[in-house]
Amino acid sequence: MTREKDSAYDIAMKGLDDVARIMNLSDEVVGYLRTPQRILIVELPVRMDDGSLRFYTGYRAQHNSALGPVKGGTRLHKDETIDDVKALSFWMSIKNALANIPAGGAKGGIAVDPATLSPTELERLCRAYIKAVFPILGSKVDIPGPDVGTPQQVMAWFTDEYENIAQCHEPAAFAGKPPILGGSEGRNRATGRGLVDVAEKALALNKQEIKGKRIVIQGFGNLGSHAAHFFSELGGVITGLSDVNGGIYRAKGIDHVAALAHMAKHGTLKDMPGTEAVSNAELLELSCDILAPCALQGQLTAANADRVKAAYIIEGANGPTTPEAEAIMRDKGIVVVPDIVANPGGAVVAYFELVQDLYHYYWKEDEVFAKLKPIMQKTMEEVWHSARKNKLGLRQAAWISAIGKIVEAMRLRGWIRV
Ligand code: NAD
Repeated sequence: MTREKDSAYDIAMKGLDDVARIMNLSDEVVGYLRTPQRILIVELPVRMDDGSLRFYTGYRAQHNSALGPVKGGTRLHKDETIDDVKALSFWMSIKNALANIPAGGAKGGIAVDPATLSPTELERLCRAYIKAVFPILGSKVDIPGPDVGTPQQVMAWFTDEYENIAQCHEPAAFAGKPPILGGSEGRNRATGRGLVDVAEKALALNKQEIKGKRIVIQGFGNLGSHAAHFFSELGGVITGLSDVNGGIYRAKGIDHVAALAHMAKHGTLKDMPGTEAVSNAELLELSCDILAPCALQGQLTAANADRVKAAYIIEGANGPTTPEAEAIMRDKGIVVVPDIVANPGGAVVAYFELVQDLYHYYWKEDEVFAKLKPIMQKTMEEVWHSARKNKLGLRQAAWISAIGKIVEAMRLRGWIRV
């Protein structure tokens, strides 16, 4: 089966089974890792502006707390399911463990299309969600952050509702808040910043540098646009960019600032002066040094992998490469830096936000990025050496490192004996 046909939970469990075989994990360990420790499903009554009452279903899954309080985003999406939340909570456990963040993984969500609600209805829904999940939250228990559909305003309502119920200030109970309410500087740019730190290290391990490299980025949203900025700062040449409407190409390099301005004016990169139009499919097959898929899952598949000409794939999106595509590209000598190595910049800065909130002492953006870089690059380096030493792919090496830490913490706590 391909990724598109599997649920997110199926994919996560396939990855776990693969690693469990290599690590020879016991049934006790796999038992802990397969299922979140706690799942809360809540029905949320919301009074609509027209006076009617509607119910929405919300979730929170706390995967594994062996390494610390659990942390993870909150997704507002019409197709949100319990399977999705369970899978994402597992992914957050391994992402946090790999980056040495002293936290377990969690994920929450509400099945709703926020665009169908007025601002006042959305605020009432957010407050109803926090009221319902309040008993299992807190800075020492579970710290929700943002995800799809939860911008800073939503995180501000979450924080306010929590503090209303708790009758005290507790900014450390949430990540992704506006800076004036205790959010961290640099949070919005952190994933793009971290992705470029990782790419820089991946190339350095091959005695190469970003300067002069041709870079293609699929997706020009939050992550893709910031990655383009930081790649350009290091002298990378952005030759291809795309959004949902298609891609643009320029061999001599696209000015990402002009691309942002074109996007702001026209809502798309399409028809940007001085560039050639390419389809989204063609963009992934452009000759380049670095391809950074920063849009959606399942973009590099068995159907197009043999036509990919990049030397490096740096995964910004979660799960953009199917296992079949990864095998094909590995045979071609393409280096695939997996999502859990390349995109945890936001998760690391969410942890920095917790630290700053607990100390009530806040850092400037350059201080945040100076602390982020060694964490991202050390992870890249460790995974690289482990993959070489054990003759594994980078993804397998990353998962093994992360799961090894969770298993060790569970063993020391006495949760498992074998
Ligand atoms: P975003 O919504 O800001 O941007 C997504 C971009 O992808 C947009 O430019 C959109 O037009 C484009 N896009 C959508 N469908 C496309 C398609 N079929 N082909 C080409 N482009 C397409 O989202 P984002 O925050 O930049 O996140 C992008 C990806 O990175 C997601 O997979 C997300 O889960 C992952 N991610 C983001 C962060 C973060 O902090 N932003 C952190 C970790 C992972």
